[in-house]
Amino acid sequence: MSKVKVAVAGYGVIGQRLADGVALQGDMELVGVVDAAPTLAVRALHEKGMPYRLFCAMPEKISDIERVGIPVSGTMDDILKEVDIVLDATPGGIGEKNKEAYIKYGKKAIFQGGEKNEVADVFFHGYANYEKGIGKNFLKLTSCNTTGFIRAVDCLDRAVGVEKVVVTIIRRVADPGDTHRGLVDMLMVDPIPSHQAVDLMLIMPHVKATGILVHTPVTHGQIITLVVTPKREITREKALELFNEHPRIRVVRIADGFNSNTSLFQYGRFLGKPRGDLYEIAVFEETIGFSGQDIVFAINIPQESVTIPETIDGVRACMEMQTDRLEAVSLTNRYLGMR
Ligand code: NAD
Repeated sequence: MSKVKVAVAGYGVIGQRLADGVALQGDMELVGVVDAAPTLAVRALHEKGMPYRLFCAMPEKISDIERVGIPVSGTMDDILKEVDIVLDATPGGIGEKNKEAYIKYGKKAIFQGGEKNEVADVFFHGYANYEKGIGKNFLKLTSCNTTGFIRAVDCLDRAVGVEKVVVTIIRRVADPGDTHRGLVDMLMVDPIPSHQAVDLMLIMPHVKATGILVHTPVTHGQIITLVVTPKREITREKALELFNEHPRIRVVRIADGFNSNTSLFQYGRFLGKPRGDLYEIAVFEETIGFSGQDIVFAINIPQESVTIPETIDGVRACMEMQTDRLEAVSLTNRYLGMR
């Protein structure tokens, strides 16, 4: 018997795995995979030497992929002419649109859990209702959780019969790399220079600044490291003295337990500050060091409360309440209960 020719549409989390799975089947041939953009998975396919031919979902998107040096073997229409069945693993809703092409070329398709049930003739599970899928044109797979627990329920059902099931799902919120779900278990980098470094130059035009920002999935505070090139040499002691004298800088010691963003958040709570708010940035004393004459150190930013004092200073300025800078900030500090 000739091998069944299979295409995978959507080379993402599921599609990559479907492609690898089909390629291992002795009685199937993976004709190729279809995607719409030079995603990381598509780039990795290229770096692996294109073990599968890549087709592009839309003709107008081919140049986006070829521009980064990845060869495209044709369009969705082209691959549909070569295959018997498509495993559609595109994002929910796209499969329904792709179905028009599958119908046009008279091809069968299997959709994944993100599509509506109506997309298919049969809502399918290999163990639980295999017979219902036989000969049908369009199947829709159960979702990942449903696929998994149906295996167990079906296993018991076939042995002893099952009357009732109560299901509690503790579900992962995102897959690795799912930036559209927010920052979950990932560190995401922005291009240099971060807007904060650019903003510093707007406020202090005499200082050159650049820097990199990495987003992290934490909510209590931010840690910034700085490398500052002074115009005149400065000692560690002098820097420490300056930081200590600044009413909006709190110098803390790792040795005392201030070893993290959260230690400062906790300390704000121990002080009984509303919501744990600290107005001061913290300089971690043991991080103060040198690279040549450049001074290096790390600070903690309580992002929810740090701008309050400077905003109140702004009221003083624009309302001309004080014309002397130090008088204004001191008043703000005093009213906010700072040193
Ligand atoms: P994904 O976002 O990781 O991958 C989808 C891929 O489809 C992307 O590479 C995207 O570029 C591509 N694509 C977009 N439009 C296309 C088009 N018109 N033609 C071809 N490719 C196109 O998505 P995923 O997580 O793999 O989910 C795919 C399906 O599988 C969804 O129905 C989802 O609900 C289901 N599913 C996902 C998981 C999971 O753990 N992620 C588990 C079970 C089922």
